[in-house]
Amino acid sequence: MIRDRKVLARILMLLAIAAMSITATRTAIGAAHEPTISAEQALQLLLEGNQRYVAGKLEHPNQTPARRAEVAKGQHPFAAVLACSDSRTSPEIIFDRGLGDIFTVRVAGNVADQVVIESLDYSVKHLGVRLLMILGHRRCGAVIAAVEGYEEVNKDVGPMLLDLYPAVRATQGMPGDPVENAVRENVKLVVKNLAASQELSAMVKSGELKIVGGIYDLDTGTIEMLKD
Ligand SMILES: [Zn+2]
Repeated sequence: MIRDRKVLARILMLLAIAAMSITATRTAIGAAHEPTISAEQALQLLLEGNQRYVAGKLEHPNQTPARRAEVAKGQHPFAAVLACSDSRTSPEIIFDRGLGDIFTVRVAGNVADQVVIESLDYSVKHLGVRLLMILGHRRCGAVIAAVEGYEEVNKDVGPMLLDLYPAVRATQGMPGDPVENAVRENVKLVVKNLAASQELSAMVKSGELKIVGGIYDLDTGTIEMLKD
């Protein structure tokens, strides 16, 4: 009887240790495959990764062959990021994340046309993402082209510049650098438009989905979160 009790106690202890190590493993990989991660937690993970990147203390999480094998079975990214195609603004690098962590959409000027909206919508509805970050960056070439081309009359303009013109128009005559102003305004407009979109508005209103805007600084690597 006493022996049985000892065996039982030992089994319970082993189970407790196993449970603790599973929890520790989940924490170590940043809860990346937890589909119900909240927007606040997702933002925290992104910003913590960015702080590591800024400080030069990269951890390169989730970039191992084991992680590759794990996410090959299915993806559960914890956030979606719409960034510019600019080669200096790669989300996985500037947020110090790995495979299966961030659902990334990149297009010059980080504008949201219908294809972009539907891509982001997929990450929300099918992959469990609850945080969308729209990430503009300073000295964006697409925005520079839009600012410089805006005054040219009869210019044959493609859809990308047309999508950037509302930001240029809204910031005309504002004090400060016209490109910087338009970069910030563009991110704010994209956040606003996505929040009002047919696809995402209901989830934004109910508080299930959060859409935030940030500006990446090419020089320091930091991200300034924009206020609503
Ligand atoms: Zn850019």
